[in-house]
Amino acid sequence: MQPYDVIVVGGGILGWSAAHHLQRLGAQNVLVIDASAPSIATTGAGAGFVGAWAAGFGPAGWGVNELALEEYSLAFYRALGKRADIHLRENGNLFLARTKAGYDAYIAPMLTHALTPIDIQTFDPRDIAELSDGAIAMNEVYGATFHPRGIQIHTTPAVIALADEVCANGGSAVYGERIEALVIDHNRVSGVVSHNGNAYHAPKVVLACGAWSNEILGTVGVTLPIFRVVATRVIGNASGVPASLPTIMIPEQGAWIREHLGGLMWGTGDGYKAVHDLPFDLPIGTRPYYPELVTSLTDAVQESFQKLFPQADLAVREWTQGVPVYTVDRTFIAGPVPQVDGLYALTGDNEAGVTHGPALGRLIAEHVMGVPISDVNPTVFAVDRFAITYADEAAVQKAMPPRR
Ligand SMILES: Cc1cc2nc3c(=O)[nH]c(=O)nc-3n(C[C@H](O)[C@H](O)[C@H](O)COP(=O)(O)OP(=O)(O)OC[C@H]3O[C@@H](n4cnc5c(N)ncnc54)[C@H](O)[C@@H]3O)c2cc1C
Repeated sequence: MQPYDVIVVGGGILGWSAAHHLQRLGAQNVLVIDASAPSIATTGAGAGFVGAWAAGFGPAGWGVNELALEEYSLAFYRALGKRADIHLRENGNLFLARTKAGYDAYIAPMLTHALTPIDIQTFDPRDIAELSDGAIAMNEVYGATFHPRGIQIHTTPAVIALADEVCANGGSAVYGERIEALVIDHNRVSGVVSHNGNAYHAPKVVLACGAWSNEILGTVGVTLPIFRVVATRVIGNASGVPASLPTIMIPEQGAWIREHLGGLMWGTGDGYKAVHDLPFDLPIGTRPYYPELVTSLTDAVQESFQKLFPQADLAVREWTQGVPVYTVDRTFIAGPVPQVDGLYALTGDNEAGVTHGPALGRLIAEHVMGVPISDVNPTVFAVDRFAITYADEAAVQKAMPPRR
């Protein structure tokens, strides 16, 4: 079989963003291989919020590098939204406090954060009710800040649009094949082999395997310090929630909310569980099915959210789960794997891969193609930046700094 220029293993938002940018930088013959199909795994569960999280909302360690990724991705989706229907909405991001304590702890610091956008706005309860077209009860909120440039997309059409473009531009895709081994000659990668024995050859291989990254990296003796969680989102019944509703983050409740098909979509930490505590395995390329987390989520917040959105029907119409991958230092992994020439890792999405995916795809493509790196210090995201190793994911979880 004719060798490819680059093989990307993994067809989530990170993998297809990498393939797109590889083509932009001149790679002629890019192959994406996925064990399932585009956006079937964690990306398909993503809620589609994109914003300048590093400006005081994301983990405390995020700074100019993460913000640069976010700004690029915002512009990327705006441009993609002109070429394809990715359900792009310019609704802005509302960071909401329900109490004074919540405002003082999370919202007020955003106003003085070093990276605060110049167009940030502050809202009182009346403004919040007005912005939500009456969906939010004025007496249930204390105050908010608003980033008007935050957007929403739908992840599946966005990934499919990217895949279609890559294939229309001469790239290829193989679905339903699980890569089980890397072909390595004299410490240099030359291809991959799938579960049914098919071999694909290329001098460069990018591993964008999401929650399954360590399975394939383990075959070359590399274990990244990652900690995986199951995260749940639910969707309530259609009940006249306005499509103009901004993305709502309520840090004091660990909550995120948006409109979806006339109802609300939401999640909080009450619907999360560490993968190392799960009573079942996670087959490659699947989404978990763990209804207990839907129950714990609704039990914890339904009553409180009903007060916040008095007219919304919060009965759970549908739900899904995915597996975000946290790193021990809470930032992304995108760079060469030093142990094997020609091998690159792109993972550690820290539950923000939809937002950062396009820019991380560009970053890995620049590494692969050997061109200057745009906008960020690549060492911040390097594969070999971790000083120590960890016994298991529980140890990684324990070593992670608090979010803020
Ligand atoms: C409920 C929920 C809400 C979220 N909301 C947001 C949000 O609003 N904004 C945001 O920025 N982020 C959000 N996220 C996070 C975001 O979804 C992830 O960061 C992102 O989807 C990760 O993309 P990925 O490409 O790394 O992983 P994936 O989408 O899982 O893709 C990895 C792919 O690799 C393939 N693969 C793995 N191993 C192999 C192998 N050996 N051979 C072949 N194929 C393989 C898999 O089949 C899979 O398709 C959310 C996540 C969840 C679960």
